This record gives sequence, structure tokens and C-alpha cells, in this order.
Amino acid sequence: MSSPAYAVVNLDALQHNLQIVRQYAPHSKIMPVIKANAYGHGMLRVASALQSADAFAVARVDEGVRLRKAGITNRITVLEGFSCTHELDALLTYQLNPVVHSFSQVIMLETRTELNACSIWLKLDTGMNRLGFNAEEFYVAYQRLIQNPVIKGPINLMTHLANADDIQDTTTIKQTSKFNDTIAALLNEQMIESERSACSIANSAGILAWPVTLSDWVRPGIMLYGISPFPDTTGEDWHLKPVMELHSRLIAVKSLNKGDKVGYAGTWTCNKPTKLGIIAIGYGDGYPRHTMEGTPVLVNGHRVPLIGRVSMDMITVDLKSQPQAKPGDSVTLWGKGLAIEEIANCANTIPYTLVCGITQRVRFIEHSFNDLNLIANILNH
Ligand SMILES: *Cc1c(COP(=O)(O)O)cnc(C)c1O
Repeated sequence: MSSPAYAVVNLDALQHNLQIVRQYAPHSKIMPVIKANAYGHGMLRVASALQSADAFAVARVDEGVRLRKAGITNRITVLEGFSCTHELDALLTYQLNPVVHSFSQVIMLETRTELNACSIWLKLDTGMNRLGFNAEEFYVAYQRLIQNPVIKGPINLMTHLANADDIQDTTTIKQTSKFNDTIAALLNEQMIESERSACSIANSAGILAWPVTLSDWVRPGIMLYGISPFPDTTGEDWHLKPVMELHSRLIAVKSLNKGDKVGYAGTWTCNKPTKLGIIAIGYGDGYPRHTMEGTPVLVNGHRVPLIGRVSMDMITVDLKSQPQAKPGDSVTLWGKGLAIEEIANCANTIPYTLVCGITQRVRFIEHSFNDLNLIANILNH
């Protein structure tokens, strides 16, 4: 028997969303960000579906190694770079391109003797204050790296936006100016050969809302999965198509009387007789525990409200408006007709955490137009 909880990954939607990136950034190369198991969608699955991309970006060395071992030959950027010689060994062996953001990395690279062995992205911190060099350090790091025979030139240059999902906030403009000014200063001092160093600034929010952030490379993550990076819009508003749907089934229906309480701690009390539906999904599957009472769930395509606490394996819904619902009926937690952005709001979180949080127990089903054709063919013969 397979688990009642399953996620459908729509590979055609993924292709469609890549096409939307191309429309917004027609002159940029695209580096789909497939870190954290491709935001929970399955890293190898997504990499195979997006092999036409110019490169991929992952966060960690081991993610890049997994891609190589699976036969992915695209360029691969490792956004966190490396923090020990073991990781540097793996980067060189598997031809992964690290982000270099600290002097301890510069020093580690200076201990190597291989020639032209490693392409890198040098990271400027323009205000995120997470990874990256400040402007003065950036010049020094650049000088040292350009003289290091291990580095395969040109050195690519990048920064990361801290608040591009707030389209009122001028931080993005400031960060972009700082990046461009710093690179212009490097150019003035003829430290870099202009045409050869590629630059990259934009994440999804940059691509969609901040044309000034478009440069040689863009790094879309969340938008590829059909999800809006902005708190007040859905992917659909940007013509994106959701890639992941989360489904399960009703496993029990029961009648409640006035005064009955539901679930752990009995946080919901029935005020007039109704029907209760029990659904096989819980925080053990990645449905967030803090999802509020009243959050919509689709039962046979109709919205019903969540009631009581989310438990590990189950949630409960009020079936007042769907009294004919019965065990075995299909349930959608997010997907067609129920935007993940809406569920994220109801759970007081962002959609990123919902897709990343799907657990091992959930079955994954891939869906694409080609598969449908295949099924149609099988049915016709
Ligand atoms: C995760 C990440 C991205 C992608 O961000 P989205 O908001 O998902 O588009 C881009 N660049 C860096 C450095 C990242 O860490």
C-alpha cells in the first residue's frame, strides 16, 4: 500500500516557468537554483527537466557532487562555497564552481598546486551582511585570486539582494549601485578585463520587479517552482504555473454534537451539529503545525475550513458544506484552486518553507504532458 499523502510535480510547469524567466531576462544566462532538494521538488528530477539551463546553483558542495554523480554536466555554482580542504578537494574533483566570499577560502586556494583547476564566483557583500567581502576586501581578494594559477579565469562577480521582495524598499537600488560602482572601480584600475568577467545579482524578486538587477547571469529559485517571491501576489499573477501540488485523502467522517471538542487540547468546540472530516496529512508530512483554524482545504475540489490543531499524521476539517463527503475522497492541501501562497499566509510563513518542508513519507509523482500522451497511448491500444 502506498501512502495516501502525495505530491505531484508538474515538469511542464517547470519548463513554462523557465520560459517566463527568459522573457523577463532575455539577455541573461540562467542559473536555476536547485538547492535544498530543488526547494523540496527533487533535485535530480528538476535538474533533468531543466537541462537546457546554462548552469545550476546549489548551496552545498555535497549537493553539487550528487548532481555530478547523477550525470549532470551543466556548470554548477556552489553558493556557500567551501569551508574545509575536504570540500575544496571535492570541488576540484567534480568541477564545481564555488562562491568565494572569505579570506580563509582565498588562503585555502593558495595552498593548491593544480593549474587552471577552479572557476569561481567572487562575492561582494552589498548590504545583506551574510556572505561576501566588503568593497576594500573585494579588491584585495580579487588581486590575490587573479594571481593564483589554480583559478581558471575569468573571475565571475556576484552579490545577493536582501530585500528585493519589498518593491517599495530602495535597498535593492542601493545594493545594485554599490555592486556596479565597485566593479566600475575595479575596471578603472584596470584590475579586470571588462568583457570577460561575468556578473550576477538577481534572484527571483530581482528578475520580476527590478530590471536594474538583470546582468550577465540571473539566479531564479522560487519563481521556477511557480511561486511568487512577493508577499502580496501569487505565482499566477506573474503568469507562473505552480509546480508542486500536495494531496491526500479523507480517511474518516463523523458526526459531531454541540459541545464536542476536536483534536489535541480540544481547541475547537462544536457549536451546532456538523460533520467532521479527518484527512491523512499532518506535520509529519510537512503540513505546518501552525496552520490556523479556518485555513481552506479542498475536499473533492470544494473549500472547507481546517479546525482544531494540526497533528503529526492528521488534520480535521468541518464538512458542514460538504455533507456527502466520504472516506477515500480526494483532498488538496495546495495546488490547483488553492494557491500555496494563501496557505503560507494562513500558516504565518512563506511558501519557501512549505515546499522545502515536505517529508520523506510523502510519495512524489511526476507529471508532464509527455507522460499524459503516453498514458493516452496505452489506453488507446
Ligand atoms: C537561494 C538563492 C537564490 C534564489 O532565490 P529565490 O528568492 O528563490 O529566487 C539566489 N541567489 C542566492 C545567493 C541564493 O542563496
